[in-house]
Order: sequence, then C-alpha cells, then structure tokens
Amino acid sequence: MFLVPDEQEPDMTENRYDAIVVGARCAGSPTAMLLAKAGYRVLVVDRASFPSDTISTHLVHPPGVAALRRWGLLDRLTATGCPPIDTYAFDFGPFTISGTPVTDDSPVAYGPRRTVLDKLLVDAASEAGAEVREGFTVSDVVVSDGRVTGVLGHGKNGATVTEHARVVVGADGWHSLVAKAVRPDQYHEKPRLLCGYYTYYSGLPMDGRFENYIRPDRGFAAWPTNDDLTLVIGGWPFAEFEANKTDIEGNYLKMFELAPPFADRIRAANREARFVGTAVPNFFRKPFGPGWALVGDAGYNKDFITAQGIADAFRDAELCATALDEAFSGACSFDVAMGRYQTTRDQHVLPMYEFTTQLATLEPPPPELQQLLGAVHGNPEAMDAFARVGAGVTSPAESSPTRTSDASSPRPRSDRPARTCLLDHWDTP
Ligand SMILES: Cc1cc2nc3c(=O)[nH]c(=O)nc-3n(C[C@H](O)[C@H](O)[C@H](O)COP(=O)(O)OP(=O)(O)OC[C@H]3O[C@@H](n4cnc5c(N)ncnc54)[C@H](O)[C@@H]3O)c2cc1C
Repeated sequence: MFLVPDEQEPDMTENRYDAIVVGARCAGSPTAMLLAKAGYRVLVVDRASFPSDTISTHLVHPPGVAALRRWGLLDRLTATGCPPIDTYAFDFGPFTISGTPVTDDSPVAYGPRRTVLDKLLVDAASEAGAEVREGFTVSDVVVSDGRVTGVLGHGKNGATVTEHARVVVGADGWHSLVAKAVRPDQYHEKPRLLCGYYTYYSGLPMDGRFENYIRPDRGFAAWPTNDDLTLVIGGWPFAEFEANKTDIEGNYLKMFELAPPFADRIRAANREARFVGTAVPNFFRKPFGPGWALVGDAGYNKDFITAQGIADAFRDAELCATALDEAFSGACSFDVAMGRYQTTRDQHVLPMYEFTTQLATLEPPPPELQQLLGAVHGNPEAMDAFARVGAGVTSPAESSPTRTSDASSPRPRSDRPARTCLLDHWDTP
C-alpha cells in the first residue's frame, strides 16, 4: 500500500476521475460502462489487452444473458455466431433430468469464448465514455489519511504513473491486488474443493444443449461455443490433484467412460486445443470501505462447477454502479449505499454458494435429495424447475424441485418489494 505523506495529500477536488476500475473483464467493464453512462468520469485499466483469453470456461446462464440484453449488447453477441442453448440436461447415471431454464425475462443461455465476450464488454465501456487503458498494470493503491484515493501503475513502456479518483473499484479477479491492499473482512471461507480441466472439440454437436454428467468423484459438462467448437470441462476432487496431475489427458478421457455414449462421441470428435486447468478457493469479501469497492471474483469467489461467475459479475456491476451513483449524487451516504450492495449480493448468492460448494465435493447427493431427483425425472414441469435452479434463475433456497406449481415460475414481480430498477433485476427471491 502506497501511503501519501500528509503534506502531499491530494486535493480531492482535483480528482481526474470519479472512479478508477482495475480489471476490464466481466465485472470491470460493465461497472465502468454503467458509471460512464450515468455521466461519471471513469478510467478502466487492465494489464491484459483485448481480445484475449483467460482461465475460465464461459457458460452465461439466462440471467447473465438478460443483463447483456438490458445493456443493448445481446445482438452483438449473437452476431458472433455463438449458438444459443435452450436445454440443460443433468445425467445422474440411472436417469437424466432434462429441462429448459428459460423465462420471459431470461431468454436462452450462451457459451461465448472469453476472447469474444470480454472484448465486447471492453468496447461497450469505451463507447459509453469510459477511458480504457489496456496493457496497464496497477502495482499499488494510493492511500491518504486512511482512504484509498487512487492507483499507481505502469503501461507497457514501464513509466510509473499515479491516477486519483473518488473511488477505486477492484474488478481484478480473485487474486485481487486491490483486495490485498485494503484487506477486507473475508467470510464463509471454504478451501479448494475441485480441480477442473477443459479443452475444445470440433465434431461434437450439441444441438442447443448444455450437458452435465454427475458421477461419484467425477463431474463433467459440455456445451457449444463460437467457431463450431464444443467446450468440454471435467474434474475430480482437489484431494486427487497431486495424484492425477502427471496424466491429465489420461484421467480426463477415463472419466468419460463413466458415461459410455458420451465417451463414444468424444472418440468421434477432434480435440482442437490444449488442456487448461485450475482449482479455486471459496470466499466472500466485504466489498467496500473508505474510497474502495470490490466487484466480481475480487469480492466473492466460488467453485466454477455451477458456472455462476459471469452472471454474478454482471449483477455486481449493476448493484455497485447503482450504489456508487447514489453515493456520488448525494442520494445517500457511501456506507449506506454500499452496505445495501453487500446485503443484496450476499442474500442473493448465499443459497447458490452453499449449493455450489456442496456439489463441488463431488460426493453423492444425500438420500433425501436422491429421492427428490428421482421424483423430478420424467415430470416436465419439475425438470424445467430443476434446470432453472442449475441456471441460477431460481434460488436453491426457494425451490423444491417437486413443488412444480410454484417452483416452475418465478414469483410475480408485483409480489416483490419495490426497489430501484436495477436492484429489482437481482432481487432476492
Ligand atoms: C476453470 C474455470 C471455469 C469457469 N467457468 C465459468 C463458466 O462456465 N461460467 C461462468 O459464469 N463463470 C465461470 N467461471 C468463473 C468466471 O471466470 C469468473 O467468475 C469471472 O471471470 C469473473 O470476472 P471478473 O471480471 O471478476 O474477473 P476476471 O475475469 O478474473 O478479470 C480480472 C481482470 O483483472 C485484471 N487484473 C488483475 N490484476 C490486475 C492489476 N494489478 N492491474 C491491472 N489489471 C489487473 C486481469 O488481467 C483480468 O483481466 C469459471 C472460472 C474458472 C476458474
């Protein structure tokens, strides 16, 4: 942390920016875009240049697609030729639960490559009026009188520059430099549970399906993406990481033999990319403090088994930008507005966090859940309801997959408490 001696304390009236956003992918660019659209002076920086890839698969569930539509970006995504996904199939071995997670509010899902999605988001931030600095690495935050007032960083030429803002937003992923500097409270922590590996195949048609296979100590999934490719990710418990890491490909292919028809399809397909793999920790961080905020993985990280991170990052962008607008405009204090952001985020994601971290153990579902799943199988309404839980459309807290009459449709908006427009999109059911 770079501390400004008192005599060098920056004049807050001379801030060049209202907000500096560190990180320009799923959380950072939308946050910058929304603040710039609201008329604020925004700088968004990333050490990467775009288009570029990152270690992440990229299923965007219907709530994330709905956010892209609200932001006027869905047409750009569909124009890339990325195929829509309208069916989610969960193969448990003895039976498969197959349903559609779609609602009026949330159309289909998509699986755009991050090279495509992130570039689209960065361009949207720039078009909205945010200053985008690619290839710019933030090395520290500037702190004055206990408050974050800016960042220190350098572009590709290496010269260090300092920029000041009313707030610095860390959208810099779960390794977040901003979080390391401000040391927020961390809670609900759980260790790495799963290690996952993915690659891309040609000749593996998916017909608009997201397929999920759940087996003892193994889980894998496949869905279509850009360029007629299919992404296939699979994983095993983190406890097996050391034992399996010397033969990733062998262990990856062996896993598919637990679903022989899928193994046949893989044998008939061509692998088009190298394997990429990782494991991540699970935690919540307090997402605000004096002069700083956190969005996306920087503030809340969880295992990727339920593929919630991109939609979560979009939600944070909307909630945080709304809160900052309230604070900047004087509608309420920074602490009140940002406290509401934290509460809404936590209430919204906590049931899915528990569901995700339970699934990521790859342990067999408890007997009562197995019984429920057996009852869901073959009941189209209940299977759609189950698909909606998997997609994050319905909270695991509100949905019993057999309560088809109420679980199959979201609670009518008129029954919900009144909120500001953006908050309502991410209301806790
Ligand atoms: C293996 C795997 C599979 C996943 N699959 C899915 C999926 O299918 N669907 C889904 O919704 N989610 C998935 N996720 C989660 C998803 O990747 C994240 O939730 C999402 O990328 C979060 O976006 P973000 O903007 O918060 O962070 P990131 O995407 O990590 O972006 C952070 C950015 O900050 C920049 N940055 C970091 N430090 C600095 C610095 N000091 N200076 C300048 N720039 C900096 C980085 O260069 C990066 O561009 C997966 C994650 C993993 C690991």
